[in-house]
Amino acid sequence: MNQPDTLTRLIKELAKIPGIGPRTAERMAFYMLNAPKADVTALSQAIVNAKNSVKFCSVCCNLSDTEPCGICADSARAQGTICVVEQPNDLWSIEKTGIYKGTYHVLYGHISPLEGVGPENLTIAKLLQRVKNGGPKEIIIATNPTLEGDGTALYLKQACHGYDVTISRIARGVPSGSTLSYATKSTLSEAIMGRQDF
Ligand SMILES: [Zn+2]
Repeated sequence: MNQPDTLTRLIKELAKIPGIGPRTAERMAFYMLNAPKADVTALSQAIVNAKNSVKFCSVCCNLSDTEPCGICADSARAQGTICVVEQPNDLWSIEKTGIYKGTYHVLYGHISPLEGVGPENLTIAKLLQRVKNGGPKEIIIATNPTLEGDGTALYLKQACHGYDVTISRIARGVPSGSTLSYATKSTLSEAIMGRQDF
């Protein structure tokens, strides 16, 4: 007897999620079949609700359920300072330190020729548009301290050349090769405070 078609389809859909291989997809599917119906309904509704209500902020590209996002709309924050991060997770990590009062720009990755990711695959054009419009006075590049994060920082620095904007890179407190979202609050605070002209 073959596996029911509906189960095959569920496994196939789950396996599309980055980082979920066929085996994990199978385990997730069996978990769902064994879980109480209320739990599975709540999970599926959470997915659909998030998909329907969470959008990308048109200014900083962060995920938000308002347009623009709460940070871009907040006049108490230093709108002339932009902290550039790779992923929304990095932004949340910096927000948790409570030390940073400017705005952000989320790139959704880093430049990686090996993985076929060029500047055009990220939100770099939108960031440069913000610079060209004269909004930011300072850009703090907080891409991860990896080869690709450093390369992306260098690209951004060169792209902003000629504009009246100060570029800094967060200090080396975050271990090299690591990512911001794994850094402790105090390490991250020190990295931001100790940022250097770049
Ligand atoms: Zn925003």
